[in-house]
Order: sequence, then structure tokens, then C-alpha cells
Amino acid sequence: MDKETAQERKRLLKELGTLGNMIRGTLVHTQRKCGSKGCHCMTGGPLHDVRYLTISTHHARNRTVHVERSIEDEVVRGIASYKRAWEILEELGRLNLESLKAKARAEKAAKRGKAK
Ligand SMILES: [Zn+2]
Repeated sequence: MDKETAQERKRLLKELGTLGNMIRGTLVHTQRKCGSKGCHCMTGGPLHDVRYLTISTHHARNRTVHVERSIEDEVVRGIASYKRAWEILEELGRLNLESLKAKARAEKAAKRGKAK
């Protein structure tokens, strides 16, 4: 692994360690009636804002989790951290493969040199 690649790898690993609580999923905003008799939403007034996290699963149906307003910001940050972590993993995978390929090329070249 060349010095530049090693430095980039180190930087990415360090950043990965700073990402905090990661959350997988997509935050969805919608509005709905609460169902309480006498509530403004049941008599033509404004509906209630609701937020939920939809998480894809290996099964056919996505999992849906209600997100309270009080934790919305943290959930949004968690989703961003998860996305960044994924990008970093992809980049690390690319760098690691690249350096292994370079190692194989160098070994092949060294062998060829010896054979002469
Ligand atoms: Zn209501």
C-alpha cells in the first residue's frame, strides 16, 4: 500500500469512529387523524403531523417505526451517519482491493525479474 493510500485509509477509519449513533431507514412525514372524539382533526381542522422511520427488510414488508417529535433531529442525524458510514465502507473496500491488486502486480513483476 503506497503512503497516500495508507493515509487515506487511516483518515476514513478515523472518521468512521466519529460517526456516532447510526440509524438505517428513511424518515417519512405524513399527516393523519388521531381518532379522538372532539379533536380538531375529526371536525375538519388541521391534521396531526406524524413522522415514522421506514426500514427495508429482507422480507416483503418494510418495518415501520413511529418517531416522536422529541427525537426527530437525532434520528435525522443517525440516518446521515449511517449513509456516511456506508460511503466510507465502500471507499475502504475500493482502496483495499486496489492495494491488494498492486501487491499482486509487484509480486508478479519481482518473479519475472528473478526468472531472467
Ligand atoms: Zn386529532
